Amino acid sequence: MSTTATLTAAQEATQKAWSKRPLIISGPCSAETEEQVIATAQRLAATGKVDVLRAGIWKPRTRPGMFEGIGTKGLPWLQKAKELTGLPVAIEVATAKQVEDALHFDVDILWIGARTTVNPFSVQEIADALKGVENVPVLVKNPINPDLELWGGGVERIARAGIKQIGLIHRGFSNYGNTDFRNAPMWHLAIEMKRRFPEMPIICDPSHICGRRDTLQDVAQKSVDLQYDGLIVESHIDPDNAWSDAKQQITPETLAELLGNITWRKEDT
Ligand code: PEP
Ligand code: MN
Repeated sequence: MSTTATLTAAQEATQKAWSKRPLIISGPCSAETEEQVIATAQRLAATGKVDVLRAGIWKPRTRPGMFEGIGTKGLPWLQKAKELTGLPVAIEVATAKQVEDALHFDVDILWIGARTTVNPFSVQEIADALKGVENVPVLVKNPINPDLELWGGGVERIARAGIKQIGLIHRGFSNYGNTDFRNAPMWHLAIEMKRRFPEMPIICDPSHICGRRDTLQDVAQKSVDLQYDGLIVESHIDPDNAWSDAKQQITPETLAELLGNITWRKEDT
């Protein structure tokens, strides 16, 4: 198969995934090793319930000295995972260089992380790098602080760059101290964003809202009840030993169970 044919097939798969409801995205918080990425992708694909493979390549860690992502070296692993499973791949980008690298290695969907959405300079840099790019959907996570203008402003910057397929990811908002949630959901804010951008899909990220496994099911169900368009859930072949966000990751098989336990809206099934 020629490169062009492969790209077209990949783009078609991405378009198909993008329009599916519910849209289910899953994969590790971080790409760690080639084996881990491939095994996770294969086990997710085997569930038959996942539309897009996610993995963090560059990780914006709160404190220094932690695993900050495998970097560009991990991008060929995602290409290989896609080749083996047919799943489109999605990664987080935070700089123009990361956008360039991602597109060079045929990443299908990009997302802007919560720590990037807060910074208009960064979002604009990403938007500039996306000018002239077609057929690459971009998901914009809410900023870590509960500021809808900032979230909406990020979305508008990406839209002005000419990106036609933009989605929202609700991952909750930072709060100080111990609460039931790692990031407070503040559902009403996400619902207001949904009202402001009715044409855009909104995806819930229970992993970063909960920060733990035992509450993922309830938060996922709540988002379905609120008519969200999909879920992005972190999964790992060995969650307890994950190099980042170990407490909130689940195995692909547990994800399949979680999805199976959800009461979906009639139009989603
Ligand atoms: C992630 O998706 O792994 C991540 C870093 O998320 P967030 O930007 O929501 O903190
Ligand atoms: Mn994570």
